[in-house]
Amino acid sequence: MRFVRMGRAVLAAGWLCLGGTAVAEPFRVDDRAMATAALLRATALDSRLSFQIVESVTTEVGPRLAGSPGDVRAVAWAEAKLKSLGFDTVWTEPVPIPAWERGEGTAEILTPFPQPLTITALGNSVATPPMGIEAEVVAFPTLEALAAAPADSLKGRIAYVGQRMWRTQDGSAYGAVVPMRSGAAAEAAKRGAVATLIRSVGTDTHRFPHTGMMRYEAGLPQIPVAALSNPDADLLERQLRHGKPVTVRLRLSPTTGPERQSRTVIAEIRGRERPEEIVLLGAHLDSWDLGTGAIDDGAGIGIVTAAATLIRDLPQRPRRTIRVVLFAAEEIGLVGGRAYAMAHRAELPNHVLATEADFGGGRVWRLETRLPEARRPEAKPFATALLPLGIALDGNEAHGGPDLGPMRAVGVPVLTLAQDGSDYFDVHHTADDTLDKIDPAALAQATAAYAIIAWLAAEGEGDLRSGAE
Ligand SMILES: [Zn+2]
Repeated sequence: MRFVRMGRAVLAAGWLCLGGTAVAEPFRVDDRAMATAALLRATALDSRLSFQIVESVTTEVGPRLAGSPGDVRAVAWAEAKLKSLGFDTVWTEPVPIPAWERGEGTAEILTPFPQPLTITALGNSVATPPMGIEAEVVAFPTLEALAAAPADSLKGRIAYVGQRMWRTQDGSAYGAVVPMRSGAAAEAAKRGAVATLIRSVGTDTHRFPHTGMMRYEAGLPQIPVAALSNPDADLLERQLRHGKPVTVRLRLSPTTGPERQSRTVIAEIRGRERPEEIVLLGAHLDSWDLGTGAIDDGAGIGIVTAAATLIRDLPQRPRRTIRVVLFAAEEIGLVGGRAYAMAHRAELPNHVLATEADFGGGRVWRLETRLPEARRPEAKPFATALLPLGIALDGNEAHGGPDLGPMRAVGVPVLTLAQDGSDYFDVHHTADDTLDKIDPAALAQATAAYAIIAWLAAEGEGDLRSGAE
């Protein structure tokens, strides 16, 4: 929060430097730029470049947890890839991060019916003692139910929270369920629990548990926490229904080491008339360690990198600069997004638009804006150019993407190209996040949408900045 306030102050000063106008010139696009958008759409739909980029990062790098050797290889891969694609400038910026490693994890039901359980540690979890923790399980259907349990009621027990996720096109169920993943361990620790298990935050029925970040609360004991795969959560719940005490042994050996350095990788296609004005296309370079980071976020890396490359290949450069930012350390707490906003705070007023691809490889079905009501007609050129791709303009609460929060908070305009996430949470944060889950035709459609947005924002007259948040 402290950062955001600082950013806001600096940003306000920046806008004053830009001329002190409260309202920018309205955004508009001429016929020639619209014709180029149509050309770009056709080229992008025929191009395999975004898929080739996902294939490259999943094959040549694979898992790239922030701070791991895979992360170091990913930074080198991204620099080399962006240079080989012919971007004008490619550079990296340091991002200090805590170094968490998963280690090993096992769990088994000891009574009443002994069986192994498939689990994985949640990111940031502490370890159990080497011999593990054996305790009786107390089940709760939701995080709210756990939070309503009396003080000390879980002394010496393992808390289990079994909230199910459900399938949605826009992924909204994730936001509803993910507080269980972040907060269950702290709520359980408040009530004396020695460990926590949760049902995976995922919509699948396969036996791959879903990892993801969790948080401890200051002043509370830190207890280990793991996710069960959905079928294993079902199994545990069936045994609990027998009414006999269910005891589980849990062993986790994650470690948190001294701070390490990751790097955000940035590349630019320089604008021909106003190179200092920036259209930012983001994705995140890091992934969880279990899979190969294909849908999360190899797909986003492929989409934004290919979109910028396709614009570079047009007969004429856009007026403004297109900047591809492959953020470090998104998964472990949006660290790279905050580092970028801080390092670039002086030039954030020059960011005319930012958007991030971080929702898999599915087709885009909706364009969301974030504009004052009176300025919403200015989004019309985007809607017109996207309509042939089957994309409708709908919604005015765009978030732009997870790493853009600090920029959005200080007034950088954002758009969201909502991808179909109906099956995204089947493999999200699991070992099953692999290249075969990407449909090249859907990825090409999404790439076309990002290319069109970036082109129009970089070529149009006026811009979407309001001059004040
Ligand atoms: Zn992601």
